[in-house]
Amino acid sequence: MFENYDLIVAGAGHAGCEAAAAAANLGSKVLLITMNLNTIAQMSCNPAMGGIAKGQIVREIDAISGYSGIVSDKSLIQFRMLNKSKGPAMWSPRTQNDRMLFSLTWREMLENTPNVDFYQDMVQSIIIKNGQAVGVKTNLGHEIKAKSVIITSGTFLNGIIHIGEKQFGGGRVAEKAATGITEQLVANGFESSRLKTGTPPRVDARSLDYSKMEIQAGDEEIVGFSYLNIEKINPEDQLPCHITFTNELTHEILKTGFDKSPMYTGRIEGVGPRYCPSIEDKINRFADRDRHQIFVEPEGI
Ligand SMILES: Cc1cc2nc3c(=O)[nH]c(=O)nc-3n(C[C@H](O)[C@H](O)[C@H](O)COP(=O)(O)OP(=O)(O)OC[C@H]3O[C@@H](n4cnc5c(N)ncnc54)[C@H](O)[C@@H]3O)c2cc1C
Repeated sequence: MFENYDLIVAGAGHAGCEAAAAAANLGSKVLLITMNLNTIAQMSCNPAMGGIAKGQIVREIDAISGYSGIVSDKSLIQFRMLNKSKGPAMWSPRTQNDRMLFSLTWREMLENTPNVDFYQDMVQSIIIKNGQAVGVKTNLGHEIKAKSVIITSGTFLNGIIHIGEKQFGGGRVAEKAATGITEQLVANGFESSRLKTGTPPRVDARSLDYSKMEIQAGDEEIVGFSYLNIEKINPEDQLPCHITFTNELTHEILKTGFDKSPMYTGRIEGVGPRYCPSIEDKINRFADRDRHQIFVEPEGI
């Protein structure tokens, strides 16, 4: 049923999509296996690309013919060049994207890339011969051969999700964790440990009073990421983001839930990103402040 591939990429997140595109464009025959073909290049957290550090990476990927910059430009709903008050080396492009359009655009670009085949299944283990990866075994029982294998499984390997007092296995909200690969890697001498990350709550825009918030408009000029001249939305059609603030009453309300927060009950043991503090973290660590910023960002058009 399956032909012999040059490369199998396991996981069609941003990394896997770039890997598949790069290899295929260099002439390799690629099979991209992913757990759900409807979530190709899904944006896991807030639908934004770039910002400080990642903005530079997206541009570097673009410079070596990757697709992330193009997809970001095609699906942006707001563009801002951050750090404009500093020197040009510090400028950081950031797009707010339409979550669904981003994913669809990625899929369309991959479908139009010759040499990429798609298959929906979970890779359970890597077939190893003489210390070399020569294919994969899948959850549905297939053994698929390839000259090399790239694992781009994102947050899915034995992933655990914490929501308040609940804790359950999952790769991302409403998606199963991937099992098997971690155990095999550990058996082959790799070390495994846990990283943690958080994501903001999603709220219904119709329940918000935007008149009480500060508007954060996009730039008047949309520079974008890609060095190719990608057609983008008109600057005047950009959607605004908003900023609002907590107050002392908000802090009091939030503190009543600290005993249920997995951050404080010891259920989360992994190391987290330093610049991604949750609201309870901010209230706790900077207890002398009477307000904290809250960013309100649209998920799409
Ligand atoms: C809650 C949360 C918040 C985050 N916040 C941010 C943020 O603010 N900024 C940021 O830059 N990043 C953030 N991230 C990290 C985010 O995961 C990455 O930016 C980006 O999605 C990583 O891309 P990836 O391709 O490595 O993995 P992912 O996007 O996670 O994609 C992995 C893909 O592999 C598939 N897969 C996994 N295992 C298998 C398997 N065994 N077989 C077949 N398919 C498999 C999955 O179905 C998925 O499609 C966050 C992640 C989460 C979960």
